[in-house]
Amino acid sequence: MNAECKSAASEWSRYSLSVDNEFGGKCLNHCACLNGAIFAVTPGFLRACGSATHDKGSPIICEYLKPTIDPEEFLGGLSTIIRQNQTNTGPCVGCRRLVQTIMPRQFAATFFSTISLHDFCGCNSQCVYCGGSEYFLPEKYVASLDHEILFSNLLEAKLIRPELTSVEWGGGEPTMLNTFESTVRLLRSNKIRQVINTSGIRYSNAIEEALRDRVATVRISVDSGTNETYFKVKRNPHSDSVWESIRRYASTGGDFILKYIVFGMNSDIEEIDCFVRRAQSAGVTKVCISVEAHSAHSPSGDMRITLRELVAASLIHNLMKAGNVEAYFESIWLPDHIDKIEQIGNFQSNLSRIISPEREKEVNPTLRLLRRIRRLLRDLGIRHPRSLLRKRL
Ligand code: SF4
Ligand code: SF4
Repeated sequence: MNAECKSAASEWSRYSLSVDNEFGGKCLNHCACLNGAIFAVTPGFLRACGSATHDKGSPIICEYLKPTIDPEEFLGGLSTIIRQNQTNTGPCVGCRRLVQTIMPRQFAATFFSTISLHDFCGCNSQCVYCGGSEYFLPEKYVASLDHEILFSNLLEAKLIRPELTSVEWGGGEPTMLNTFESTVRLLRSNKIRQVINTSGIRYSNAIEEALRDRVATVRISVDSGTNETYFKVKRNPHSDSVWESIRRYASTGGDFILKYIVFGMNSDIEEIDCFVRRAQSAGVTKVCISVEAHSAHSPSGDMRITLRELVAASLIHNLMKAGNVEAYFESIWLPDHIDKIEQIGNFQSNLSRIISPEREKEVNPTLRLLRRIRRLLRDLGIRHPRSLLRKRL
C-alpha cells in the first residue's frame, strides 16, 4: 500500500469513529444513504445518493477535484448533512427517505458498498425519451476524472472490497470513455461487481470478460423488434450491430438483461412479436419490461399509457415465459398498470389453453397474436378493437 493510501485507510477509521461518537445512539432524522457506504460521482462533486426523491436533488458531500477520496472531507461533509437534516432547512428535508431513526451506536461504514458514476456524458445513441440532452453529443465524451485511478486508489486504501462493493455505470454511454475497458478489467480482476448500462452499439471485450467471470450485470435497452422501429426510437442506424452485441453478451451465460421500454412508438403487436422472436433467437434468457417514465407518470398528454401499451407489456411477459425466458416488470410501472397487465395476461393464458395446438399451427404467429388480442378485447366488452386500441385509458 502506498503511503497516501495507507494514511487514507487509517484516517477513514479515525474519522468514522468520530461520526459514530457524535451521532450514534441518538434519535435523528436520517437516511441509510448517509452512513458513508454509498455515494455518487458527479462532475466536480461527490453526492449522497444516485437518485434523490425530492426536487432539491442529491445532497453534495464534498468537492471532487482529484481521483481519490479524502476521508476527512467525505466524512466531514456527511456529518454536516446529518446535522443540517435535524433542522427544517436540511438538504434532505422533503425526501420521503428521510425518517426519524434511533441510530445504532456504530453506523458509519468501514468501506464503500455502492458507487454510482454519473460524471460523464455523450452517447452514440439518441433515444427519443432520453432525459439528458447533454448525451446527444455523438463522439463527444466528457469525464470529470479518471475512473481507473480512482478505483486503484480506493482498492489500495481498502475502501472498496472484493465481492462486497458494486460499481454502477450511469448514463451516457460508458463504452465511449477512454479508460472504460481498463477500468472494467481492473474491477473485474478485483472481483468488484459492476452494473453496466450500455447502448450496445460499441461491443466491449471487457464487458464480455466480466460477464464470463460472473462479476457483472449488463443491460441493453433495445425497445424494438424491427430495424425500422429501432431507427425511430433510438435515432441511430445501428440496430443490427446492437442485436449482434446482444447475441454475443447473451452467449457468455452471464447476467445479461435485455430491456424493452414500452410506449406509444413500439407497442404494436407485430413489433412485440418480432422482438420476442429476435430475442429468443439471440439466446437471451432474461428480459426486463419497462415503461417510458413520462408515459407512466403523466396523467394526460400524448405519451400517456393506453390499453395498447398494457397489452404489449402483457404479451412480452407471457410470450417470453412461454419460451422459458425470465421476464420481469421494472418497478417504474404504476401498481394500477401492473394490475391491468396481469388481468390481460391471465386472460391470454386461459385463451391459449382453449385454442387447440393443431389449429394454432395453421396460422402464422402474427395472425395468431392478433386473434388472441381481438378475442381478449371482445371479452373485455370492446367491440371495435382497432379504434379502441388507440383510446386513452
Ligand atoms: S434522504 Fe433522500 S436526498 Fe437525502 S440522501 Fe437519502 S435518498 Fe438522498
Ligand atoms: S442510450 Fe441512454 S444515454 Fe444514450 S441516448 Fe439512450 S437513454 Fe440517453
